Amino acid sequence: MSERVIPLVDQRLHAVPALVPAQPIAATGTLLDGFARPLRDLRISVTDRCNFRCSYCMPKEVFNNSYSYLPHSSLLTFEEITRLTQLFVAHGVKKVRLTGGEPLLRKNLEVLVAQLAQLRTTEGQPLDLTLTTNGSLLARKAQALKDAGLNRVTVSLDGLDDAIFRRMNDVDFPVADVLDGIAKAQAVGLGPIKVNMVVKRGTNEDQILPMARHFQGTGIVLRFIEYMDVGATNGWCMDEVLPSADVVQRISSQMPLVPLEASAPGETAERWGYLGPDGQHDPALGEIGVISSVTQAFCGDCNRARLSTEGKVYLCLFASQGHDLRDLLRDGTSDAELSSAIGAIWQGRTDRYSALRAKLPPGAAHTPGRRIEMSYIGG
Ligand code: SAM
Repeated sequence: MSERVIPLVDQRLHAVPALVPAQPIAATGTLLDGFARPLRDLRISVTDRCNFRCSYCMPKEVFNNSYSYLPHSSLLTFEEITRLTQLFVAHGVKKVRLTGGEPLLRKNLEVLVAQLAQLRTTEGQPLDLTLTTNGSLLARKAQALKDAGLNRVTVSLDGLDDAIFRRMNDVDFPVADVLDGIAKAQAVGLGPIKVNMVVKRGTNEDQILPMARHFQGTGIVLRFIEYMDVGATNGWCMDEVLPSADVVQRISSQMPLVPLEASAPGETAERWGYLGPDGQHDPALGEIGVISSVTQAFCGDCNRARLSTEGKVYLCLFASQGHDLRDLLRDGTSDAELSSAIGAIWQGRTDRYSALRAKLPPGAAHTPGRRIEMSYIGG
């Protein structure tokens, strides 16, 4: 039996101030990092709070009544988020995902969505504007989000068995309410919808096939995520990771699958399509995705930056240190200077955590520094 250690050091404090470089960095729509990876995707955490206590993300033992969430004054306002996003977009961001915590807990989120929906990429196109949610408030909010200009949603759902799901969210939340949220999102046109299922060996692996059957042919793309060693509070161990290859094999043995091309560079999910009777991928049956964050590194073309609730930029999900933009944002720094500061952060990026971990012998620990919680920077 592996022993679980849940350290309680607050990693949110670990950030360096973002600096305005002496040489301005122009926003040309193409900003490359230390490995020539362009900046394309920005994930914005709008709250560090969540109403679920999934043990792999916000375990109750840590995120309890004595946990100090960020005070309201620390959070970026909607105007600050929109200003920063505009500067990121000028550097080449095309896709923006709102996340958290649970983003739908942030009051009046649709106001932020409406502001972001006004932004245009350097090619003059609207952003691909999306949101990741646990679905608990989605039935209530889907229409307002759609009206505000949100394009689509990704909903997290770890199983269809009510008892298993209630145990995993650890707040006794029923599956039926999440399914209602998904149905409402689909009805108002927040699609194509993706459903993310984190697979933990021994916990919900028997939900893989029921989930695949449920979503096959619905136009909803089900994606299986390997349980990841993010943060420092979930007591992660390799024994509980079910490799994506096993997931594909289990589904394919019942519902044959064929590999599909990646939909975009930097796409985290490997796509598999359901075979029709003619032995070809049948688009009506749809597809699944697998996100092999543990067993297959995809750092090579990672084009994502993450903006925390309080204005720190993280360059990797496994980063141990952020770059604090909030002080610059609040001390009268001009757009040109802020834009240069963002440029310098991305140009200095050399993160490739998963690729380095993949080179270690099996079972070897890789802890280059204490890592930030997923609930703080978002998925
Ligand atoms: N509350 C929202 C939700 O539930 O989707 C957004 C935030 S949540 C941190 C984003 C995604 O991260 C969810 O799909 C969640 O299941 C996933 N996640 C959290 N911890 C994880 C872990 N240790 N391994 C894999 N996925 C994880």
